[in-house]
Amino acid sequence: MNERYDLLIVGGGPAGCYTAKVAAEHGLRVLVVEKDREIGLPVRCAEGVGEAGLREFFEPDPRWIANEIEGFSFFAPDGTQVDIANREIGYVLERRIFDREIGRLAAEAGAKIVTRAMAVGMTNDGAARKVTIHHLGKTHRIEAKIVVGADGVESRVGRWAGLRTACSLHDIEAGAQYLLAGLNINPRRCQLWFGHDATPGGYLWVFPKGDGKANVGLGISGEFSKNRSPFDYLDRFVETHFPSASKLGAIAGAVPCSGGLKRFVADGVLLVGDAAHQVNPLSGGGIVNALKAARIAGRIAAEAIAAGDVSRNRLSAYEGEWMDLLGKTHRRYYRLKEGIFGLSDGTLNRTAQSMKKLDYEKRTLARLFRLALFKHPSLLLEIPKLFFALQ
Ligand SMILES: Cc1cc2nc3c(=O)[nH]c(=O)nc-3n(C[C@H](O)[C@H](O)[C@H](O)COP(=O)(O)OP(=O)(O)OC[C@H]3O[C@@H](n4cnc5c(N)ncnc54)[C@H](O)[C@@H]3O)c2cc1C
Repeated sequence: MNERYDLLIVGGGPAGCYTAKVAAEHGLRVLVVEKDREIGLPVRCAEGVGEAGLREFFEPDPRWIANEIEGFSFFAPDGTQVDIANREIGYVLERRIFDREIGRLAAEAGAKIVTRAMAVGMTNDGAARKVTIHHLGKTHRIEAKIVVGADGVESRVGRWAGLRTACSLHDIEAGAQYLLAGLNINPRRCQLWFGHDATPGGYLWVFPKGDGKANVGLGISGEFSKNRSPFDYLDRFVETHFPSASKLGAIAGAVPCSGGLKRFVADGVLLVGDAAHQVNPLSGGGIVNALKAARIAGRIAAEAIAAGDVSRNRLSAYEGEWMDLLGKTHRRYYRLKEGIFGLSDGTLNRTAQSMKKLDYEKRTLARLFRLALFKHPSLLLEIPKLFFALQ
């Protein structure tokens, strides 16, 4: 490891590796440090993405696509199933391969990536940031003009830079997931289950991966997970609905569903991806959002370094571009999340039954929300603003 870089990126997930790719393409000397053994592992994700967002970055590639999805079904607490008419296809990824491919592209662009390298502290001497890295029993002090915190939900870079990165218990979704095998499910439809008893302050997903396998998991608000483990909720669901399935894997993880940090830039520091809470707070999806933020962050970092000004003021162009692209939309999603996850099981059951009476073509997600939230006029006003995203 050299001791000096233009950009030091902490975290080798999609946000970190894609920022590295973009910045290296702009001619920066870039180092990515990843604390885990390998880029892409462990996978803490249900691996679902929409096609349009993905295609902004990559041609879908069979090497990292496990399954193509043509629609999804909503399940109310009483088990009423509503097949939603989808206008966009989606994919369930193989993230261990997908993430590694982003790492490969970053390396190809000229970035250096080191695994088993953990950032443990950061100082600021005015001209540059210095980050202490533990790597294979040695300690390195790396100097960089800009440090990117792409270190996920547990981001320490943000805290070291004095940013307020804490996520309230209410907004942190505690996730648990099994990779199940031996399932007899429609391989082209994702299932989304709602209900206060089954998955309080969140939802449960069944994302088919083909060959009778699926990621079956849930996210519940931290307010509920502090008293009862998400795996307790998940086990109950699996025992009821898939009693003969085999468990090929189990993961736990958290998703910051706050709607976004107020500030995610400091002097010589940018936060990207989950570290900046750039997740869709309603769905918990963050892969494509991380790529979108990384694309902006990598370019703005290069422009700031070329201008010789890495101050908070200069780097805040990244905050502005993100807010215009998705940040404001995420604030609206946050309000919708509060409305939807606060609905009683009775309202969810009635909504599902009303939806079932509609012709299939009319069963859109926007209509589902309108029916569910008809007693919340202020939230109904948000739906047209999100109309295209909800179709
Ligand atoms: C249960 C669950 C299900 C999900 N399902 C979906 C889904 O279906 N679709 C979707 O779009 N999103 C989903 N997400 C969210 C998605 O996984 C994240 O939004 C996405 O991974 C964000 O990418 P990132 O690069 O910001 O963070 P991460 O992928 O978390 O990467 C951060 C990296 O930083 C490393 N790191 C942390 N600290 C340090 C340090 N000090 N030094 C060095 N390295 C460090 C970590 O090891 C990690 O590799 C899910 C999340 C969970 C928990």
